[in-house]
Amino acid sequence: MRANGFDAFLLGALEEIELAGLTRRLSPLESPQLPSVTRGNVRVVNFSSNDYLGLAAHPALRDAAMLEWERGGFGAGSSRLICGTLAAHEELEAAIAGFKRTPAALSFGSGYAAAMGSIPAICGKGDVIIMDKLSHACLIDAARLSGAILRIFPHNDLDKLESHLNWSSRKHPHARVLIVVESVYSMDGDLAPLREIVNLKERFGAWLFLDEAHSVGVLGPGGGGLAEQLGLGDRIEVQMGTLGKALGAHGAYIAGSRTLRDYLINRARSFIFSTAPPAPVAAAATKAIAISCSPEGSRLRELLWSNIRNLAAALECPNPESAIVRQIIGPEREATLASSTLLSQGFLVPAIRFPTVARGAARLRYTVTAGHRADEIEALGEVFRNLRSTDSGSSD
Ligand SMILES: *Cc1c(COP(=O)(O)O)cnc(C)c1O
Repeated sequence: MRANGFDAFLLGALEEIELAGLTRRLSPLESPQLPSVTRGNVRVVNFSSNDYLGLAAHPALRDAAMLEWERGGFGAGSSRLICGTLAAHEELEAAIAGFKRTPAALSFGSGYAAAMGSIPAICGKGDVIIMDKLSHACLIDAARLSGAILRIFPHNDLDKLESHLNWSSRKHPHARVLIVVESVYSMDGDLAPLREIVNLKERFGAWLFLDEAHSVGVLGPGGGGLAEQLGLGDRIEVQMGTLGKALGAHGAYIAGSRTLRDYLINRARSFIFSTAPPAPVAAAATKAIAISCSPEGSRLRELLWSNIRNLAAALECPNPESAIVRQIIGPEREATLASSTLLSQGFLVPAIRFPTVARGAARLRYTVTAGHRADEIEALGEVFRNLRSTDSGSSD
């Protein structure tokens, strides 16, 4: 190809990323998504997956997908508004609505697409979006795309949230005001003070968008998330969740009123202008929801929570609130090094770096599932204690 600077531009940018210690590379995964996985022909215990209930490789999901494949084929062929909507998607949305105890739900190809479609559909130029500082990239991107005025409050800081709400009602009395928060923060594992946020948004007449990506399957009696656990579901305008984490399938949903669903079918561009997910994937997700609400789901959640408590104890992190435990390391390179050291000892624990988290706040992010064995968690604890003692020894 003619030299026009394109490759030089790409290489220069990659070099800058490398200099900052921020290079990302794909590592082949040679086994199914299980508590132990094979990477580069080496078996390692997997403390990196969001498959919290261990459903990703569950035979019931495979069977549901196979059955749907035989019934209706694989690809959906078009957006649901073009060819027509398949039974598998309608069944999935009925299951989600039952699971979330909302009148309706709409499914999307991914959580990223759900956020990008729904937030700009609800808010636009002249409106106000108030968002937690640690919100997931898809929520930030969606808020930016909407063109609304964006106000960020420090993580879980209710006073600052209230002052933004005060500011909006003074400066933009006619604007729509949407608060965007997560229930479990994906890189920290802590919870939003949801009851207080719901009370505040009601006091100010604002609306609430709640992303339950890491609480679905994990919190609530049926795994419906933090809103279910606190009994707040019917006071929240928009509840988003993903089907690809604890539910072991793929895709995402927005749950809420029937009117919200009808509105998004007409306004969410990532729904309208995108091919529907394959029906077998929808059928697997429907099955996963049935499992989450069943006695098997309760058993899996008990196992998960027992593993969460053991993991947190092994890593000396008190009071875990979710299946995510993180240790802040600070410098990006040190976090990568710590992750490599753990990998060489047989434990897959990712280093999370900028831009996923703030610069200089790189960390190890451990996640645990219902399928981990107690001895695997104990072995991780032992390695952690050894590493820490050699660490503090060398810094003297
Ligand atoms: C993973 C995640 C998403 C994106 O969901 P996908 O289905 O993986 O696209 C959205 N929000 C949060 C908080 C997440 O952790």
